[in-house]
Amino acid sequence: MNTEKMSLKEMIGINTRGLRFIARDKIRGVFLMLFIGVINAIYVFWNVWLLAVLADAVQAHASAQILVRDLAIMAGGGLLVGVVKFTSDYILFYIGSNVWEHADMALNSKIMDMDYEYMESEKVQNQRRDLDEMMRTWNGGGINFLFWRVEVVVRTTAEVLISVVYLVQMIYKSMTVPEGNSMGMFLITLLFMVVFAGVLIFSYRQNIHWQEECFSLENDMIPVNRSFTWYVENYLEKAENAKNIRIFRQQPILMERIRDLFAAFSEKVGRICEIDEKIQFFLGVMRAVLLGFVYFLLGVIALKGGMTAGDVVLYAGAIGILIEYFSEWVFTFTELATNTKYLKAFFDFLDIPNRKYEGTLHTEKRDDDRFEVEFRHVSFHYPGSSQDVLKDFSIRFRIGERLAVVGENGSGKTTFIKLLCRLYDPTEGEILLNGIDIRKYDYQEYLQLFGVVFQDFKLLSMPLGQNIAASEHFSAARVYSALARMGMSDYAARLEQGLDTILYKDFDSAGIEVSGGEAQKFAMARALYRDAPFLILDEPTAALDPVAEYEVYSKFDALVGSKTAVYISHRLSSCRFCNDILVISDGRAVQRGSHEELLADEAGLYYRLWSAQAQYYR
Ligand code: ADP
Repeated sequence: MNTEKMSLKEMIGINTRGLRFIARDKIRGVFLMLFIGVINAIYVFWNVWLLAVLADAVQAHASAQILVRDLAIMAGGGLLVGVVKFTSDYILFYIGSNVWEHADMALNSKIMDMDYEYMESEKVQNQRRDLDEMMRTWNGGGINFLFWRVEVVVRTTAEVLISVVYLVQMIYKSMTVPEGNSMGMFLITLLFMVVFAGVLIFSYRQNIHWQEECFSLENDMIPVNRSFTWYVENYLEKAENAKNIRIFRQQPILMERIRDLFAAFSEKVGRICEIDEKIQFFLGVMRAVLLGFVYFLLGVIALKGGMTAGDVVLYAGAIGILIEYFSEWVFTFTELATNTKYLKAFFDFLDIPNRKYEGTLHTEKRDDDRFEVEFRHVSFHYPGSSQDVLKDFSIRFRIGERLAVVGENGSGKTTFIKLLCRLYDPTEGEILLNGIDIRKYDYQEYLQLFGVVFQDFKLLSMPLGQNIAASEHFSAARVYSALARMGMSDYAARLEQGLDTILYKDFDSAGIEVSGGEAQKFAMARALYRDAPFLILDEPTAALDPVAEYEVYSKFDALVGSKTAVYISHRLSSCRFCNDILVISDGRAVQRGSHEELLADEAGLYYRLWSAQAQYYR
């Protein structure tokens, strides 16, 4: 996370944006916070006021009646303020409890919508992990922290302001005491002010310094935490790794690593506790010195008869409050300064541009599904790499055609699909849909044109029907039809819960385990359910047994119907049934034709690959 220093203007800007972000959804919450801040400040002063009034009444030998009246008014008022305070605290708890969720949902939504190339980048992955980490270590971090500090800022500012007014009043009185030594009082007061200002500046700076240290320690803890999570949650606790752990006797190496991580962790936590203790000690000493000073001043004035008993109670109480809450006031601002870094990280993440969404053209809803795609001199390298993965790549294909794309592993087949589906944009050249650069189309509409089964597809631990429809609401008839086309009718019919059957046992013991082959068929059914004009299958038979693989091929035409199918495989035998085969080698389109045509070219790559692979099929 960024640890650069920010200017005050920048800090105010970021915090204002943070408040606007909260207010967009929680405007009542923010107002309630402000209100509670004021009420809480009054609540703190109430007892002081009450005692001051009583002390004056007693000193003036007021009648019992008046005393009771004053007491009743003050107690009644106090009760009212208390009731308002606790009621609003309670309401606030409800309103505020999901500010965290609101911030987290903004991040989740961003990561699902942001341009794929950013999402896939290591930088963005780390940014997101840092933000998660920060929410855990820094009390909800960023937005949540800011929300809950609104009350503290208002309350402590009000407390400090009110008590400073009393302080000034007291100083004024001390200097106008009859027969008093005005000059002496002035000097003492001046000294007090200087000490006070000095303590203010010193404690702010010292706090900032300590907090910076804590911030950097917490930052250092992020990678430690991350490794820890990886070793324990992602590796050691996962059943699928248990085999490797046992066979390769990984226990000692893992235990050693975890021990090291614990040690690193304890060291950092120890440092943070040490800093915290220093802060507490410093605050304690500061309070004691200031309080001593003020009581001394007060004593001198009182002795000279410069104020009533009520005044003494009032000023002593108010200054007690000043000293008590002054440190909280300073501390809150230093905390907010540190929190600004988290806020900045939060907004930096939300500000990652979504450039893919700039297109506005509609993809026509064509009944004849006539679409033509052309790659025109497309070159592409992944962000952060200078190596072209596709090189001057030009092809054209029409709807209704079946295009098989073959090539060795790493030749660029999947990259070709990622560009076609606009997960990435070409670094050179263009991709056209019906003659128009695909960047000009509305992104969501463009994506709707594709039903894709990626090699590394994932199903969700959710009901089968929702998985196939990729939606909470679905048409059961269409889901069954998609399953039937994948030969899964009998399977679905056997499920007691039908389409409501949960896949996997991650969250529900009634869930069903799904084999790799079944999962692949479900993933294909999901692509079919979408009924999109393009059906793209990336190594779709990798997890299928030979019989199931044969079934997919033999039914492929029926599966695809009038749609355009792009079928990717490094296994040439899988593509034989397509009459249009594109051969990719090292990012270039090197050959195209039917199986027979390509095989006839004995100098071509296809012939070589076929001959090399054919020995396995004999
Ligand atoms: P194929 O599907 O033919 O096996 P790919 O299109 O997946 O090949 O990969 C082509 C090349 O691009 C490979 O060298 C691979 O390492 C590289 N590559 C794939 N994905 C990325 C990525 N996200 N970042 C950087 N390089 C990548």
